[in-house]
Order: sequence, then structure tokens, then C-alpha cells
Amino acid sequence: MRDITTGLAIVGSGAAGLMAACVAGGIASDVVLLTDGGLGRSNSVMAQGGLHVPIDTPDGRRRMLLDMIAAGGPTLDQSLARRFIDEIVPTVDLLRSWGLVLDVDDDGEIVRRLAGAMSEPRIVGTGDRIGPSVIRVLRSRLRQTGVSVTTGATVCGLNPVDDGLSIELTDGGRITARTAIIATGGGTRHHAELVGEPCTNPANRNFEMSAILSGLGIPTVDEGVYQWQPFGLLEAASGASRPCVPESVVGHGVRILDRDGMDVVAANAGRAEVTAAIQKAVDDGRGIRSSKGEWGVWLTLTDMPERVLSNDFEHLAGILRRHGLSGRDVLVAPYLHYQLGGFRMFEDCSCVVPGLYLAGEVAGGVHGHGRLMGNGLTDSLVHGRRAALSAIDRLDRPVSGAGQ
Ligand SMILES: Cc1cc2nc3c(=O)[nH]c(=O)nc-3n(C[C@H](O)[C@H](O)[C@H](O)COP(=O)(O)OP(=O)(O)OC[C@H]3O[C@@H](n4cnc5c(N)ncnc54)[C@H](O)[C@@H]3O)c2cc1C
Repeated sequence: MRDITTGLAIVGSGAAGLMAACVAGGIASDVVLLTDGGLGRSNSVMAQGGLHVPIDTPDGRRRMLLDMIAAGGPTLDQSLARRFIDEIVPTVDLLRSWGLVLDVDDDGEIVRRLAGAMSEPRIVGTGDRIGPSVIRVLRSRLRQTGVSVTTGATVCGLNPVDDGLSIELTDGGRITARTAIIATGGGTRHHAELVGEPCTNPANRNFEMSAILSGLGIPTVDEGVYQWQPFGLLEAASGASRPCVPESVVGHGVRILDRDGMDVVAANAGRAEVTAAIQKAVDDGRGIRSSKGEWGVWLTLTDMPERVLSNDFEHLAGILRRHGLSGRDVLVAPYLHYQLGGFRMFEDCSCVVPGLYLAGEVAGGVHGHGRLMGNGLTDSLVHGRRAALSAIDRLDRPVSGAGQ
């Protein structure tokens, strides 16, 4: 890539990067999006169960905050979480105005589903394919902006320069930008490879950006803390990318049973609790061995009405069909899923490096030690939008004396 100069450079094309590009590209003319694979290749496109959206009243937002605090514990940054919750509905409305179609009931009301540790149903989605739906809408919106997109562009260096940042690419190219948004996702896949644990994330190079951001002196929060998805599908595991059952099945009466048919834990408990209970059942010798020699417990999908499985969980039903698991209970065990820790950002998504903004799984603090289902993609979309607005705001300020 040739050397270029721009106002805003966005790195990454998952939900956070694409959202930032769509918002910024609707306002500013000098926006560049760089991504190391194809456009939209990301963890985001894998998302299944849905977005976590509060009931749009002060009380509804308060209940969501209380659920997040209960799951996230003391390291959850309450002011970040509060502002996150306040911006979810406007962000989802924006996506809907760009063409995102959410599931509705017979009366035309958006369907809200329950997930673990939620005091009321709040998960909205498009069956169990929210990731592909969101990425499709964002890609199509991006085409209507003037954002310049470079795929196959891997960022390998980032340095502050006079009133801006210099971004280096592995092909020798260099971008000089007054502002930049880093939306390079989490390093769970790399961590899983290091510790030899199964993982839901596809192969990626997301972790490489961490060394660059650390080198710039950006502090971290909850570094090294990862979350497990409790319902990894043992019999459908095939090599690198491991499928899981979306946690939103817990609203449909499913149970988690050991080899003697005894309940292991309430399926709608929090992720950490369900994960620990399954691991304990296996450690105590109450697990069941899969045909591949791995240990898990039963998730009683046969307790779900067939109509719900085929309508609301079409993607899952397809996986079950392909692996000869239709109409059966399935063996599940926790898989590494999400990077909870990350780089510390301020409320406007800026960080300690002037002109640099963070968005999505690369940043920490919003979820503390426990992310509620649906808060991953939602986090990326909300902070992608906010990072874009903050970066554009900075661009609008005069160059000389432009502070944080
Ligand atoms: C199987 C699965 C199911 C999930 N289901 C849900 C769900 O139902 N609801 C929910 O809320 N969340 C879900 N999540 C989590 C959610 O998808 C992610 O947390 C979120 O989408 C992360 O978005 P992101 O944009 O921050 O990062 P990513 O989507 O990981 O995107 C990072 C982007 O940065 C690019 N990149 C990385 N490094 C570089 C570099 N050096 N140079 C250039 N480009 C780079 C990558 O190629 C990629 O395009 C799920 C995740 C998985 C894996």
C-alpha cells in the first residue's frame, strides 16, 4: 500500500470497526478503514444469540445495570457501564434505520429472549444469526459512504507523531492520521492455543495489536481474564472452530444433567456459575464421555419444543442435522469464548494516547469479570459509534492546541 495521509484511520472490520466506519463516513470525508482479512472477517460475524437491549425506561436501564454489576463484580466500571446502557437503544435504532430486521411476534413487537443471570428477557436478535445479519447491514451501509477500505492490510506499528499517529503496515505502507480507532477485537483464540483449551473463536491475529498498544503505555484492566461459553457442543467439534449452543436456549426450559440424570446447575444461572458447575461435575466423575474422548454433561435440547428449535435456532438446528444430533440431548462442556480484560478507555473511547480511540473487545472495564450474553456485539456496536463521534469531534477542533 502506498503512503497516505488522512483524518481518521480505523483498524479492524468486526462490528466495532465497521460501525465506526459507517458513522464516521456519514459525517467526514477523509476516513480510511484497514483490516487484515476480507471486509467483515471477524469474531463478530460468528455471533449467534443476539444483542442485549434494555427496556427503554429509566427503570429498565437501571435493572440492566444491576444485572451487569452482579455478573461483573467490583472491577466493572460503573460509569462506563451506565453510559454503555444509555447508548444501546439509539445504536440499535440506527442499525434498524440502515436495514437490520429484528424478530417480531404476531403483534409486531420485538421479541425479547432470556439469557443467563438476566432478571428479565432482553435479548433481541434475528433467530440465532445476529452476527451475519449485523455485518451484512454494516457492509451494505459502508458502500453508501466515501470511506476508503483496504483489505489484507495488517497493522504492525503505531506511533504518535506531531498532532496525529503514524500507522505502519506489514507490506511497508504507512498511514499518517490525525486520529485513529483501534477495533482489533480480543485475543481469546491466541490465549486458548497457548493454554491448550478449546475455543469458540475462529483463527485470527487479533492478539498482535496488544503488544503494540502495551508499547504505547496504555494501561490495561482485568488483563488475562477470559470468559467461557458453557455450552460448547462436544459432538460437533471439528478442529479449529468449535460451535456452541447459544445461551438464549435457557429461556426454553432446558436442563443441565450429569450422567445419573441429576441437575448440575440451573441453566439460567450466570455463565461463570454454569461453567464452574459443569467443570466440577466432570472433575467429580459425574461427566459423560463423548465419542471423541472429551468429557461433558447433557444439555436437554429435547425439552425445547421442536417448533422453537427450528424457528428460533435455525443455525443450531443446521449444525445438529449435519452432525446427526437432531432430536437428541447434546453433550456440552465450556469453551473459551471472550476476552474480558483489555485496554483502559475513557467514557468517550479515548485513551492515554492523544488522538487514539478504542472500541469493542480490545477495550476492558465495561463487563468486569462477567459479561452477560448479548453484551459482546452490543459493546462493539455502541463503542464503535461513540469512538467515531469522538474522533470526528476531535477532527473538527483546530489543529494547534488540540488537546485530549
Ligand atoms: C461463536 C461466537 C458467538 C458469539 N455470540 C455472541 C452473541 O450472540 N452476542 C454477543 O453480544 N456477542 C457474541 N459473541 C461475541 C462478539 O461476537 C464479539 O465480542 C464482538 O463481536 C467483538 O467485536 P470486535 O469488533 O471488537 O472484534 P472482532 O469482531 O474480533 O473484529 C476484529 C477485527 O480486527 C481485525 N484485526 C485484528 N488485528 C488486526 C491488525 N493488526 N491489523 C488489521 N486488522 C486487524 C480482524 O481481522 C477483525 O476484522 C460471539 C462470539 C463468538 C466467537
